[in-house]
Amino acid sequence: MSLSAARVEALFLESGALRAGHFALKSGRHGDRYVEKFQVLQFPRAVSELCAAFADRVRGPDGRPLVDLVVGPTTGGVILAFETARQLGLRGIFAEEVKDASGAARREFRRGFRVDPGSRVLLVDDILTTGGSLLAMLSPIEAAGAELVLAAVIVDRSGGATHVTSPVTGHSYPVEALWSLDLPTYEAGAATCPGCAAGLAVEAPGSSGTKAT
Ligand SMILES: [Zn+2]
Repeated sequence: MSLSAARVEALFLESGALRAGHFALKSGRHGDRYVEKFQVLQFPRAVSELCAAFADRVRGPDGRPLVDLVVGPTTGGVILAFETARQLGLRGIFAEEVKDASGAARREFRRGFRVDPGSRVLLVDDILTTGGSLLAMLSPIEAAGAELVLAAVIVDRSGGATHVTSPVTGHSYPVEALWSLDLPTYEAGAATCPGCAAGLAVEAPGSSGTKAT
């Protein structure tokens, strides 16, 4: 994709989506940097620049899109699918998480969203960590009989994913990221964590807001 990793990092830094400090992570470990993706997604101009790189990836030599539809998972993927589709002149739709009778979560295109059999699909998402979010999107795409051309993410934190493989069909689909980010984590304690060693206050960031502990 045409956007440089350095430019993506700059967009994250400028927007406050990549912060430096001393953080208590959900895993219980500590980190010295933290990604809050919605900080960058709140700036349409930054989103537009990121999605232009997604769109470029699926344009043919004549400039026309090689896909028919852009899809994303809630919540960040809604914004990304919208903007990427706007730039390509296509529809952009999203899949929501629903729970079946047993309580297992899966993703579904609802609200009357149509995915035609044989249609070529670009899947967009914000951060790839374990790959679970992309995997969950394969099921509704494959169930519709559509063809996933590319899964494009802004940030790969998985350590270098190149494909996502459907557990249902066994098909492997290409994954591309604009930026690969490997953030070190530390066991809490002055002997193992630089932030603890420096005596810095610990922040516990998360979806409920940033609050000091
Ligand atoms: Zn620490």
